[in-house]
Amino acid sequence: MQLTPQLLPGLIQAIADVIENNAEEITVLDQAIGDGDHVINLQRGIQALMVQTAELSQLDWDAAWQKIGMTMMSTVGGASGSLYGTLFIAMSKAARERFLDLSGFAEVYAQGVEAVKQRGKADVGEKTMLDVLVPVADSLRQSSAEGAELTVALTRLAEVAVAGMESTRDMLATKGRASFLEERSRGHIDAGAKTAQLMICAIVAVLIERLTSPA
Ligand code: ADP
Ligand code: MG
Repeated sequence: MQLTPQLLPGLIQAIADVIENNAEEITVLDQAIGDGDHVINLQRGIQALMVQTAELSQLDWDAAWQKIGMTMMSTVGGASGSLYGTLFIAMSKAARERFLDLSGFAEVYAQGVEAVKQRGKADVGEKTMLDVLVPVADSLRQSSAEGAELTVALTRLAEVAVAGMESTRDMLATKGRASFLEERSRGHIDAGAKTAQLMICAIVAVLIERLTSPA
C-alpha cells in the first residue's frame, strides 16, 4: 500500500492518544526541569490538527507538512511550538519535487532536523528533543544506504528513538528552561525528548500496521 497523506487522520489520532495516555508522566518530567506546560502546549497543537484531518488527507505531503507546520507554529506556543513548526515547514520545502521513497524521505527529514538545530541553536547532547530527532535522522539515512526494507528501517528507528530519549536522563541541560538548573538538570529525562520519542513510536506503529496488514 502507498504511504499517502490519507494516513494523516490515523497518524494524528495515534499521536493524540499516546500523548493523552502519557500526559501525567510527561508533566512530571517537565515540572522537574521545565515549567510543566509541555503537554498542554502539544495538546493544543494536536487538537488544532484534529480539526484539519479531512483537509490534510487530501493534500500532497509537501502541502500537508506546510499546513501542519503553520498550525504547530501558531497554536503550540513555548519553545516546542516554533521548533516543531520549523521541522515541518523545512520538510515541506525539502519535499517539493522529490520522490518520497526511503532515501527521499530520509533526506527530507534530515533537512527538517537541520532547520530545528539552527532555529534552536542546539545539537545532540544538550538534553532536548534533538537527542531523539537527530539519531532518528541518522538511522533513516543508514537504513536507506543499506537498502533496508521499510519495516526494518521503521523498527530500528523506533529503537533509536527510545535510546535517544533515555540518553537525556544523565545529560546536563544547556538549552531551554532546564539549562537554568545547571547540574540539577541531571537525573531527569527531558520532557521534549520523551514526547518526540512517543510520537515517533506511535507513527512507526501505525505505519508498520499498514505495511503488514493485507490490503
Ligand atoms: P517551553 O520550554 O518554552 O516552556 P515547552 O515546554 O513546550 O516549551 O517545550 C520544552 C521542550 O522544548 C524541552 O523539553 C526541549 O526538549 C525542547 N527545547 C527547548 N529549547 C530547545 C532548543 N533550543 N533546541 C531544541 N529543543 C529545545
Ligand atoms: Mg514548558
